[in-house]
Amino acid sequence: LLMVALGTPLQWDQAKGAAAHVRDWGIEQLLTIWRNNKDKERAVLLWGDEVEYLVIAVDESEQKVRLSLSQAEVLKALAENEELAKHGSMVPDLQGGEGAKNSCTLPTFHPEFGRFMLESTPGKPWSIDFKDLLQVEADMKRRRVIAKEHMAKDHYPVTLTTFPRLGTKDDFITPYYPPSGPALRSQFVPDEIANPHIRFPTLAANIRGRRGRKVELNVPVFKDKETPWPFHDPTVDYDMHQWPEDDDVRNGAAKDNCVYMDAMAFGMGSCCLQITFQAKNINEGRRLYDQLSPLGPILLALTAATPIYKGFLVDTDVRWNQISRAVDDRTREELGEAPLKNDRWRIPKSRYASNSTYIAQDPRLRSEYLDPDLVVDEKLKQRLIDGGMDDLLATHFAHLFIRDPLVVFSEDLKELDVNGSNHFENLQSTNWQHMRFKPPPPDNPSIGWRVEFRSMEIQMTDFENAAFSIFIVLLSRVILSFDLNLYIPIARTTENMETAHKRNALLDDKFWFRKDPFPQKTTPAASPFLRPQASNSEVPSQQSELDQSPKLNGARHTAGGTTSGTPPPGLSPVEDEYCLHTVSEVINGPSPGAPTSTDQFPGLIPLVQHYLSSLNLSVTTRCQIERYLELIARRADGSLWTNARWMRQYVSEHAEYKHDSAVNEKVTYDLIKALVDEIEPREDWSSRQGVGWEMFEPSG
Ligand code: ADP
Ligand code: MG
Ligand code: MG
Ligand code: MG
Ligand code: MG
Ligand code: MG
Repeated sequence: LLMVALGTPLQWDQAKGAAAHVRDWGIEQLLTIWRNNKDKERAVLLWGDEVEYLVIAVDESEQKVRLSLSQAEVLKALAENEELAKHGSMVPDLQGGEGAKNSCTLPTFHPEFGRFMLESTPGKPWSIDFKDLLQVEADMKRRRVIAKEHMAKDHYPVTLTTFPRLGTKDDFITPYYPPSGPALRSQFVPDEIANPHIRFPTLAANIRGRRGRKVELNVPVFKDKETPWPFHDPTVDYDMHQWPEDDDVRNGAAKDNCVYMDAMAFGMGSCCLQITFQAKNINEGRRLYDQLSPLGPILLALTAATPIYKGFLVDTDVRWNQISRAVDDRTREELGEAPLKNDRWRIPKSRYASNSTYIAQDPRLRSEYLDPDLVVDEKLKQRLIDGGMDDLLATHFAHLFIRDPLVVFSEDLKELDVNGSNHFENLQSTNWQHMRFKPPPPDNPSIGWRVEFRSMEIQMTDFENAAFSIFIVLLSRVILSFDLNLYIPIARTTENMETAHKRNALLDDKFWFRKDPFPQKTTPAASPFLRPQASNSEVPSQQSELDQSPKLNGARHTAGGTTSGTPPPGLSPVEDEYCLHTVSEVINGPSPGAPTSTDQFPGLIPLVQHYLSSLNLSVTTRCQIERYLELIARRADGSLWTNARWMRQYVSEHAEYKHDSAVNEKVTYDLIKALVDEIEPREDWSSRQGVGWEMFEPSG
């Protein structure tokens, strides 16, 4: 989350009046940034991960776990540790010396929305050399140790997406504060649950103010054998009269058969795993943005880790929609619940949602792939086009700029710093889509155009978080090296995102995915994944290790200019290009024994394997990478469990679980204790590189 300098934030009624102003200035700043950076070429390919933690206090005497609101204390202790600042970590280098470079780099810790959250990133971005890739897991473990070293003895950095009993009636936080406060007005959580930096309470209050009522999260409860049915969330209080918003539940905000939540903290208090890539130039960034987009829902399903809310098993497996609703500032008019009168348009998605644009200047981008429901601020789009920006990119930003800025500081409204980025970032950083296209920051000329992959759930172990990070990095290389075409209509990705929520979607559901990812049809080569170089000038020639730069496409053609309707000669109808696949088919390719057909995607892991084989990797390196790929492959085929499945199983086998969907304090304690014992670094931890693996073997 972006931290803006302190100032005087406007309440919603005033901020609303400044919205158009902030947007206009943001667009001017964007144009300057774009002009200054559109032709920049950068040799370095860099990437970095973000790992988010819950800080959990384990009370052994009471057999109870609580969220600890100690973010500020932990960050302060980290900042004051001079040894750490000088030498990085005290923790031994896990790679036996090879990783000396990064082990001396102090990892960075950041605050997050929840006052019980921490975020860590590597001290500096990773290169895409295998030397660096093989440092990631050790670095994540080291970060967890460092975080732990700066917490109270009974506190732990735990990588669960959500605290299973956030918002229950008991004292689930320490120190304890009772609900309900003026910013969130939640009947379940106090304002003290959020980071006290003025930005956060303002964000929460202005989302609520704009929306005209509290945010509303209703997650279908998991119906177990003994679950009372219909299910009425027993934690809802219908008789509160402190704030006008207390009426929400009397007006039907809490739905039957659902767990009901009413505050930003229930969404933005979730932890995720994000990966940011720096592209060589703007065009490569635009290409990565488009090609990684259809992978968002697939990776969401693979990392599913969110089966419990507010003390109940729910019928969904992931966090995404809950965050989406927790920051959904749309009015009734924008939602389509009231006729349009004061607002400008109906808006189909929350500002936290799967992304709605493709932006690459790629001749393969067909107009049929674009989102037919896209809402764009035409005036701002025209300003960008007048400023020289092409239609596709202008459309992308003019879409992000349909939103109002939520946190506006009066100091910022006095004078436009056209070389700054504060107004641009105000809109950009509160559009939380599953892909983010990040322009270079004006104050740091060494940073290039970046693309962030944002859909993944945080995993319980560093082994898994490293595996998913490395997998995405390898996929980005495969996409660029083989010039893959993963385009499907954006509406299908939106649909896939919903599918990924279903309980056990990973194994039980199917996802739209492209059949043939190769740049163009040619006669089959010896290997199904090798495009004959001679026949396709777009395929790059091999360079060193991972650093392969594909030739950029010179074509001017953009999808904005293509006319829809009958496909041009030689192009099949768009609907023939994709079909429903299981996640395993997307990841592993057609199941063994299945008839070979061009109607199925060859599989991301086979593509990565093929790519790896074309590099000169040592056997050791290859084997280490294979461990990570095996996790992904086996997760996809069901032979290893998702975190969500593991948690469901843990709860269901617990002696105190009554098969009524309720996850009580003792079950939660034992679950988190089991997790802490598993991931807590030990004496022998360097030999336990695979920790987290056995844990997800189905037990029965
Ligand atoms: P945000 O929270 O806005 O997404 P952060 O600064 O928390 O951003 O994290 C960004 C990630 O990008 C970190 O992992 C960092 O290592 C990485 N990163 C920083 N600079 C670059 C760069 N030039 N290229 C690629 N990744 C970078
Ligand atoms: Mg974060
Ligand atoms: Mg961050
Ligand atoms: Mg941020
Ligand atoms: Mg962040
Ligand atoms: Mg991020």
